[in-house]
Amino acid sequence: MATATAPELVSVNPATLERVGSVPRTEPREVPAIVAAARSAQSGWAAVSSRGRADVLRATARLVREHADEIADSIVAETAKPRTEAIANELYTAVDRARWLAANAPGLLADERVRFSQLHLKTKKAWLVHEPLGVVAVISPWNIPFAIPFVQVAAAVAAGNGVVLKPSELTPLTAEWVPRLLEEAGAPPGLVQVVQGEGEAGEAVVADDGVAKVFFTGSVTTGRRVAAAAGARGCPVVLELGGKDPMIVFADADLDRAVDGAVFASFLNSGQACVSAERIYVERAVHDEFMRRLSERAGRLELGREVGPLISEEQRDAVERLAPAARPERDGWFLEPTVVRGPLADEEIFGPVVSVEPFDGEDDAVRCANDSKFGLAASVWTRDRAKADRVARRIEAGMVWVNDFGYSFAVGQASWGGVKSSGFGRTSSKHGLYECVRVKYLDADRGRLRPAWWFPYDAETESALRAAFDVLYGEGVERWRAAWRHRSELRHLLRRSR
Ligand code: NAD
Repeated sequence: MATATAPELVSVNPATLERVGSVPRTEPREVPAIVAAARSAQSGWAAVSSRGRADVLRATARLVREHADEIADSIVAETAKPRTEAIANELYTAVDRARWLAANAPGLLADERVRFSQLHLKTKKAWLVHEPLGVVAVISPWNIPFAIPFVQVAAAVAAGNGVVLKPSELTPLTAEWVPRLLEEAGAPPGLVQVVQGEGEAGEAVVADDGVAKVFFTGSVTTGRRVAAAAGARGCPVVLELGGKDPMIVFADADLDRAVDGAVFASFLNSGQACVSAERIYVERAVHDEFMRRLSERAGRLELGREVGPLISEEQRDAVERLAPAARPERDGWFLEPTVVRGPLADEEIFGPVVSVEPFDGEDDAVRCANDSKFGLAASVWTRDRAKADRVARRIEAGMVWVNDFGYSFAVGQASWGGVKSSGFGRTSSKHGLYECVRVKYLDADRGRLRPAWWFPYDAETESALRAAFDVLYGEGVERWRAAWRHRSELRHLLRRSR
């Protein structure tokens, strides 16, 4: 079994802890002034055209590439995750999102002309207009300390908002890159403010009336607390919460690929990924073989180089508590990747522990996958594309990958977000962008026709409106018959409209 021999990767070393500990914490009483500062930068930013904002995002993407190595240094220093993961999961994601937003936000946010098929509204002109919300809050976790705040802040900024970012207290330094890159790219200074600190600081941000929406990523418990506090003052939230993601492996799957996929899906980021595969269901015919190969493959992972430590002692202890049946072996901050015969409790473990269970046939696979209070993501592994599609559509989750895992996190056009206890709202794709705007219905009537349904009311108008109802909304030939039958009532309405 590999051992933990990469002390330089262990962020949770005294030097980094000291740096993290020395980051000044924001006092809750300072938050209103911080929100107000973001607001004052935002009023100018909202006036910049969406193309102008897109230029800033394009420049931001360039700067992520320029500073790639330093950003990776920060991520590795604070989380001790393998550098490969900092690059593949965080840098790729950030550049891709900034580019996608730059290319697509102007089109998606352009005024959308409303067309009227209703006869009585044929003279109307109207648009759906996308307005910024103002200042939004982004509250983020430590497990993807650069890409999560980056993509959420970038979408908010692309839509013309200011942002108050509250990163995890465990990874405060990495998050500071986000405003730095945007400002260097040309965003107004102060548009993205960072509030540092623990839950208390986050609470003050959520409670501030100047915050128009909260984008929260973190645990179910905290997410619900945040939603309740925001709801108490009528503030909307998007919740990206935890998962207990299933992986369904059919007997006709490419078993080598499925095993490699399972190792990656379960032990990426030491299992500290919201979409980690925590429950693997394998069709009975190949269950034992899969279990054997997965355990063997997991045992060959190298601690330090491939599997980093847990983020904190508390996190390591929490994993051990949640998965006592699995008894993962500890080695300092590390836990050995552990494969266990399931089931385990329906709680997110957030560590390198995965359970494997057999299933029998399609219906059973779907039942197993949906047998959880969570619904973030899932994956289906089979060579039968029709079966994969049938099963994937029946799984209650926000993302379902077929013969693959997780890649869509780094893809701007793919939606991201869960169902059931895993949260609501989306933080990627056009749906994520539309979470960052208020839609306004904008009319442009020239005021020449007087609506027939205005005051005064009289018996003749009432029966004319009743007749017009059948003419306007009747189907097929029926409406034309109604029009002929009620022609005098329609004439009355026309007279009233002049
Ligand atoms: P957490 O809930 O402990 O903390 C998240 C953030 O909320 C931190 O910045 C924290 O300081 C802040 N916070 C704590 N109490 C608060 C309060 N009362 N009001 C406002 N803010 C408060 O989560 P964590 O341990 O940092 O992250 C791990 C969790 O995040 C896991 O459950 C994981 O599944 C989830 N996650 C979800 C996604 C997703 O996209 N759905 C992505 C990554 C992580």
